[in-house]
Amino acid sequence: GKGDLHAEVVVLGSGPGGYTAAFRAADLGKKVILIEKYPSLGGVCLNVGCIPSKALLHVAKVITEAEEMGAHGISFSKPKINLDDLRGFKDSVVGQLTGGLKGLSKARKVEVVQGYGRFTGPNMIEVTGDDGVKNVSFDQCIIAAGSEPVNLPFIPQDDDRVIDSTGALELKDIPKRMLVLGGGIIGLEMACVYDALGTKITVVELMDQIIPGADKDIVKPLHKRIEGRYEKIMLKTKVTDVKAQKNGLKVTFEDAKGEESAGIFDKVLVAVGRKPNGKLIDADKAGVAVDERGFIAVDGQQRTGVPHIFAIGDVVGQPMLAHKAVHEGKVAAEVCAGQNRHFDARLIPSVAYTDPEVAWAGVTETEAKAKGIKYEKGVFPWAASGKALSNGRSEGMTKLLFDPEDDRIIGGLIVGTNAGDLIAEVALAIEMGADAVDLGHTIHPHPTLSETVNFAAEMFEGTITDLM
Ligand code: FAD
Repeated sequence: GKGDLHAEVVVLGSGPGGYTAAFRAADLGKKVILIEKYPSLGGVCLNVGCIPSKALLHVAKVITEAEEMGAHGISFSKPKINLDDLRGFKDSVVGQLTGGLKGLSKARKVEVVQGYGRFTGPNMIEVTGDDGVKNVSFDQCIIAAGSEPVNLPFIPQDDDRVIDSTGALELKDIPKRMLVLGGGIIGLEMACVYDALGTKITVVELMDQIIPGADKDIVKPLHKRIEGRYEKIMLKTKVTDVKAQKNGLKVTFEDAKGEESAGIFDKVLVAVGRKPNGKLIDADKAGVAVDERGFIAVDGQQRTGVPHIFAIGDVVGQPMLAHKAVHEGKVAAEVCAGQNRHFDARLIPSVAYTDPEVAWAGVTETEAKAKGIKYEKGVFPWAASGKALSNGRSEGMTKLLFDPEDDRIIGGLIVGTNAGDLIAEVALAIEMGADAVDLGHTIHPHPTLSETVNFAAEMFEGTITDLM
C-alpha cells in the first residue's frame, strides 16, 4: 500500500551497533533501511552516552589539572563557568557526529525511516513516525534496539531533582550537593564532571568497592583520589528510601550492619545500570524470544532463534559497550551478506573515563581466582615512571596477567591517566597471543606512559633494570 517500503536488510535502531550494521550491509551491496525513533542518528552512545560524557570529562580534566598546578608553582584563578556555552560545546560535538552519520547514510544509499518500529510478523515492521505509519517489509532484519537506564521503584519518578545519566548530561544546573546512586562506570564519570564544576558529591554503592568489574587494587588509586575530593563514598550501603521535601531529597541509607542514616541532597543521580529494550518491540510477533529481563539470545553469528533475524549490541547482553555493539554489528551484517563470519573476539576491553582512568582487558585477577584460572602477574607502579612523575600523576599502576605455562598474556588492568588509551596495546597483545618476551622486547618510546606496559612485562620476567 501507500507508504509501504521494502529492504533486503532492515536495521531497527541507529546506535553504534545499528548504524555500523546498516553501513556494512550497504557496503556489501544490500538494500538497507535503518529505522530510528529519534530524528538524530547515533543512539545512546552519540546522543546521551559515550560522546557527550567524554566532552564534559575533558573539560573536567582541564579544570582539575589547572587547580592542581598550584602545587607546581602555577596558580590560576577560580574558573568562571558559563553553563550555556559548556552545553553548547557538548551539543556541537554531538551534532558534528550525528550530522556526519546522516551524510554517511546518504552516501551509502541507506534509507533512514524515522519512527518507532514494532514487529507485526516475521518479515514486517510497522513504523509509527511523525509523518504517519509505514509498513517496512524485509528479507533479513538486525535488531539493534539498545537499552535505557534502570529506575528504582521507590524513588520519586516525577521530581526533576531525580535524574539519570541523560538528565545529568543535560547540564540544567550545577547542584550544590548531589548523591550519585551507584558506584559503577557511568555514575563515577558523571560524579567526576559535577565535582569539577563545583558540586559536593556523595557516592553510594552496594558492593564493597567502586567499579565492581575491576580488581580492588586497581580501583584503589581512583578511590583514594575521589575520597579526597568528594564529600563521602559509602560502600556496602543501600538506599532504602528517597523522599521529596521542599529543602531537597531526603535519602535514607542502610549499611551492611543494618544501621540507618540519612542525608539531604539537591539532586539524586540514579546510575544503577541499564535495561535492554527487547520487550518494547513486539518481538514475539516475529517469533523472536526475549527473556524476562528484555535480552534477546543470539548465537555466535548474532542470529536469534529465527534464522533471518539477528540482534546486536546492548539488547543481546553484557557488557553494554559501544565497541562491542560495533563489532557485533559488523558480524551480523557480514553474515546477512552471506559471509562466514563469527563473533570470535577474545576480549572486550572496559574503560572508566574517570580521573584517573581505570581500564582492563581479558582476564582480571578477581575473575582468575573465582574461576581457578592459573596466572602469574607483572605489576609496575607508576611512581617509578618518569612520564607519570612528570605529569604530576604517579598514582597509577599497570598490572599484566600471564599464563604460567607459556608466559602468554591473558589479561591486563591499568589505572592512571590515559589508561583507556594504554589498554589498547594490552588488547592487541592478547588477541595476537603475545607473550611476556614480546611485550618486554618491543621498544616503547621513552618517556611515555606506554612504557609501563613494557615494564610490567619485564617485572614478570624479572629482566627489568633501571626503572625511570
Ligand atoms: P543504543 O545506542 O542504545 O541505540 C539504540 C537505538 O535504537 C536508539 O537510538 C533508540 O532510539 C533506537 N530504538 C530502540 N527501539 C526502537 C524502536 N522500537 N524503533 C525505533 N528505534 C528504536 N560505552 C562505551 O563503550 N564507552 C563509553 O564511554 C560509554 N559511555 C557511556 C556513557 C553513558 C552516560 C551511557 C548511558 C552509556 C555509555 N556507554 C559507553 C554505553 C553505550 O552508549 C552503549 O553500549 C551503546 O550505545 C549501545 O549501542 P546499541 O547500538 O546497542 O544501542
